[in-house]
Amino acid sequence: MAFRSIKGTKDILPADSHRWQHVEAIVRDVFQTFNYKEIRTPIFEQTALFSRSIGELTDIVGKEMYTFEDRSGDSITLRPEGTASVIRAYIQNNLAEQLPLTKVYYIGPMFRQERPQAGRLRQFHQFGAEAIGSPAAEVDAEIIAMAIAVYRKLGIRQYALKINSVGCEKCRPVYKATLQELLRKIAPQLSPDSQRRIDQNPMRVLDSKDEEDQSLTVDMPLINEFLCTECSEHFKNVQRLLTSFEIDFTVDGRLVRGLDYYTKTAFELTSTALGSQDALAGGGRYDLLTQELEGKATPGVGFAAGIERLLMVLDKTGFTLPDGRHPLLFIAAADDSAREWALAETIRLRERGIAAETDLLRRSLKAQMREADRQEATFVLVAGARELEEGKAALKRMQDGTSELISLDTIASTLQRTSS
Ligand code: AMP
Repeated sequence: MAFRSIKGTKDILPADSHRWQHVEAIVRDVFQTFNYKEIRTPIFEQTALFSRSIGELTDIVGKEMYTFEDRSGDSITLRPEGTASVIRAYIQNNLAEQLPLTKVYYIGPMFRQERPQAGRLRQFHQFGAEAIGSPAAEVDAEIIAMAIAVYRKLGIRQYALKINSVGCEKCRPVYKATLQELLRKIAPQLSPDSQRRIDQNPMRVLDSKDEEDQSLTVDMPLINEFLCTECSEHFKNVQRLLTSFEIDFTVDGRLVRGLDYYTKTAFELTSTALGSQDALAGGGRYDLLTQELEGKATPGVGFAAGIERLLMVLDKTGFTLPDGRHPLLFIAAADDSAREWALAETIRLRERGIAAETDLLRRSLKAQMREADRQEATFVLVAGARELEEGKAALKRMQDGTSELISLDTIASTLQRTSS
């Protein structure tokens, strides 16, 4: 085969796209009920936007970004995540002046050059939301509730919510220094990734997936013990609110968002229905990010969720999504003289909002009937020269084979009557 899709990318084929549409419709529906409005940002941005906001030291920026020079020599990157672009748009368009709290969501493709495996792609899709403008725990709790509402609405129950607080610029430095000192003592035994992280990002060492790292750090102090009064109050408030929303969670003191701009709440949703790539969604508060991107200091909180993973969970739990749409009517031409009328009528019906189909391959009547069956059309109308002359034809209901002679002038109203 001459051309194949690029490794780590996938076609969403016609037989599958209705599943995506359904999930996206649920996401939009849930988000709208929470009064979040859609924002659509470009899929490529200046590279520096991502390196600055996500951080030079992260895997995303260090190893995974699709970065290229365009023809004018500017460094461009395909977005690896959504938050940076949203914050850029927020600052650039002065959204703060319009509303004190900006609540936005996005749905779309993201790009990371990771090693492809089940549940991990190079072009994948996320839905996510950001609430910018409030330091209050209510917003953290609301956004977590909103993420969960999407899974619940899709009938997914097999998920677990983990939350943590990663502190702020006041309390975290003391913790970081303490942790660094302890980690340096055992540095040679740690995995190379963890060794690299000790200086810049020691909290990520506690989050390491490496078993040896995990057992070496099992007794190390966690950030919870170091939180300042403000962070600790904030974290208690988030927990109280989640409890009052009847959302189950566990506190995981090892859960971190890697960077210094992330503050206070961090959370992750995982699913037991997935394999090693079990993260459904992740998010948290980033009170220092707008500043980092040279905007006015503004607190924010957000999350992002993978759509492919969500669909995998739906597959595994056997949840059946609504079927793709089928034509309500298939008009079959009994002879060549009726073909033109059949197409013109199909188009007229479509203008009235009726999903109609006809044959475009000039096939025999028998083949057209087979096609109507394959397309799972609800009704078939067969018309030839005689029917056109008489102005009447049989409308056949495919499910039970019953038919009714109807006037060709009243197809639309008959369909609307019989199918409502
Ligand atoms: P992150 O932006 O890394 O916090 O990821 C948020 C969510 O996006 C994860 O929980 C996954 O569900 C999904 N995700 C992240 N990276 C990938 C990937 N390479 N392929 C598929 N889904 C991904």
